[in-house]
Amino acid sequence: MNILLLGSGGRESAFAWKISQSAKCDKLFIAPGNAGTGRYGTNINLKVTNFEGIKDFTIDNAIDMVLVGPEEPLVRGIHDFFLADEQLKNIPVIGPQQEAAQLEGSKDFSKLFMQRNNIPTASSKTFTRDTLQEGFDYLATAGLPVVLKADGLAAGKGVLICLTLEEAEIELTEMLTEAKFGDASAKVVIEQFLQGIELSVFVMTDGEHYKILPEAKDYKRIGEGDTGLNTGGMGSVSPVPFADAEFMAKVEQRVIIPTVEGLKKERLPYKGFIFIGLMNCYGDPYVIEYNCRMGDPETESVMPRIQSDFVELLIGVADGNLNEKELVISDKTAATVVCVAGGYPGEYLKDKAISGIENVRDSIVFHAGTTLNGETVKATGGRVLAVTTLQDNMFTALQQATADAARIYYDGVYFRKDIGFDLL
Ligand code: ATP
Repeated sequence: MNILLLGSGGRESAFAWKISQSAKCDKLFIAPGNAGTGRYGTNINLKVTNFEGIKDFTIDNAIDMVLVGPEEPLVRGIHDFFLADEQLKNIPVIGPQQEAAQLEGSKDFSKLFMQRNNIPTASSKTFTRDTLQEGFDYLATAGLPVVLKADGLAAGKGVLICLTLEEAEIELTEMLTEAKFGDASAKVVIEQFLQGIELSVFVMTDGEHYKILPEAKDYKRIGEGDTGLNTGGMGSVSPVPFADAEFMAKVEQRVIIPTVEGLKKERLPYKGFIFIGLMNCYGDPYVIEYNCRMGDPETESVMPRIQSDFVELLIGVADGNLNEKELVISDKTAATVVCVAGGYPGEYLKDKAISGIENVRDSIVFHAGTTLNGETVKATGGRVLAVTTLQDNMFTALQQATADAARIYYDGVYFRKDIGFDLL
C-alpha cells in the first residue's frame, strides 16, 4: 500500500523509519518531511494544513492511507475533510475527527469528558470573561499552588502554576480580559495542583478495540535537573520503571477503558492515537491531559520497542479489527536525547551545517528541524535531531544515547546530559 505521512519532526522520522521496515508498505511519502525522512520515503513539499494540496496529491499518487503526525491538521478537521469528499471518503485517515480532537484542542472539553466518564483527574472549573468574578471566588477557595490553563492550543505555553492567590488573580485577569494567549485563553480552566511524577501513556484505537503501546517519560525543560524554560521536549525514555504492572493495570482499568468506552458512548468516532499525559500520585494515576496524536520525543523511544509490523497495526485501526493484530513489545530500554539549536527555546541559531552524524556508534539519528542544502544537512529548527538507542538495560541506553549525541556537531549544538538518569 501507499502511505502518506504528514509532519516534519522527530516523531515523523520515527514513524517513517518504522513504516519503511514493513513489507506492507510499497511507497511512503512524507509531507513535508525533513533532511532525514528522505531516507525512508519521498519528501513532498506540502504543508500539513494544505488540505486541498493533500487531496490532489492523495488522488494523483493512489494513496491508500494517511497517517497524521501533529495535532494541528486533526484539530482543523483533516479527517472530516476526507470523509466529506467523494473521492477521498474511502481512504483511511489515522487520527480522530475534529470533534474528538477537541480532547486536545480544548482543555474545557477534555475536563468535562473526564468528569462525565469518571476518569480520575484534578478537580477543576472553567471560567470566561463574563464569569471572572466567579473565577476569583473559586480561586479563593482553591488550595495553593493552583493551575491556570488556557482552554485552547497554546504551544505548551498556556499552563501557569501560580504559587500565590495574588499571582493567580493577576494571571486569570490577563488571560481572560487581555487575551494573554490570544483566543486560546478566552476560556480558562482553573485546576487543582497535583503532586507526583509524570509519564506518557499511548493507546492505539480503532474506536472499538485498543492496544497499549510502550509508555514513556519525557523531559520538557531546557536545563539539566529539569530546570529552566519549557521546550517541545529534550529527551525521552521507555519503559518507565515506576509504571510497573500494578500501576499500568490501574491505568488500564481507571483511565484507558473508560476513555475508549466514553468515546463510544458519546458517539465520538476515534481511529488513531490517544496520548494520555498522566501524573502518578502516590501510586494512583490522574489524567493531566489528552493529546490526539503521538508525543514527540516519546515516539522516537516508543517505535524501536515495537517489534510487530507497525503498518499491520495501522491497518487494524483503519479496518476496525485492531484486536486481531499482534503487538509484541521489546523489553529493552530505548533512550532518546534531543540536540537543539543554540539559544532554543528562545531566539535560536539557524542554518548551521551539521557534521558527525556518521560517527554515531549505536543509535538511530532521527531528524527533526533539518533541511538538505545541496549535499549539506543544515540545522534549521529549534529541535534539530533526536538520537535514539535501544539497549538491554537502562544504564547502557542512557549512556549510549548521551555519548552518541556528543558525537554530533553544529555551531551552538546543545543537549541535556542527564536524560533519564533520575530513573535509575
Ligand atoms: P504540553 O504541550 O507541554 O503538553 P499543554 O499546554 O498541553 O502542555 P498540560 O500538559 O495540561 O498543557 O500542562 C503542561 C504541564 O503543566 C504538564 O506537563 C505538567 O507538568 C504541568 N501541569 C499541568 N496540570 C497540572 C496539575 N494539575 N498539577 C500539576 N502540574 C500540572
